[in-house]
Amino acid sequence: MVERLKNHDRIADERVLAAMRAVPRHIFVPEVLTGKAYDDHALPIEAGQTISQPFIVARMTELLELERDARVLEIGAGSGYQTAILAHVAGQVFAIERLPELARLAQARLRRLNIHNAVVTCFDGTLGWNAHAPYDAALVAAGAPAITESLITQLKIGGRLVMPIGERRDAQRLIRIIKTEHGYDQEDYGACAFVPLIGRHGWSEAK
Ligand code: SAH
Repeated sequence: MVERLKNHDRIADERVLAAMRAVPRHIFVPEVLTGKAYDDHALPIEAGQTISQPFIVARMTELLELERDARVLEIGAGSGYQTAILAHVAGQVFAIERLPELARLAQARLRRLNIHNAVVTCFDGTLGWNAHAPYDAALVAAGAPAITESLITQLKIGGRLVMPIGERRDAQRLIRIIKTEHGYDQEDYGACAFVPLIGRHGWSEAK
């Protein structure tokens, strides 16, 4: 999996590749899918959600440009796989997941892997997590209808926010935002498809 990320997908950040090598993805997928855990696909997980494709996990982590002591906010922890990768690369990870069953499972998996610099909590992540702000970086793993200003507010100047944004619930562009003194810069990293971000500053629950 890691060779493909490096040679085919052009993931260049050695610390991201090391994290992808270190974290066993099969721990984060339902048992019946263990055999597919190292294929480069998103897979269904509990509660009708998905574990992101390894390539997109690596790409988003790389785009955050994390220092070893970085403080990171993650929204949409899902299985906890992305959380574990972030915890390997950064200093502290504060992860939010709106579905209690997933939050509980994700936290248990992190504990099982002896990852102690990440917490997963359950609430609406579109509000961010002000108690631990400001963050060096923030990652949203679900598709939002628009840029979530509340998350930019919680970033340090120079901080990075990577999130999928799209006018449709099922198709987005991967956007990186860099906070500046007076606002923010925005870059587009291409098409992607995430499950919808549901909450106050996201989509409504009903389809
Ligand atoms: N990176 C995760 C992706 C999980 S899918 C992984 O690889 O496992 C996205 C997750 O975002 C889902 O679990 C969904 O429940 C969650 N989500 C959607 N809206 C949310 C919100 N407002 N706050 C927190 N989590 C949210």
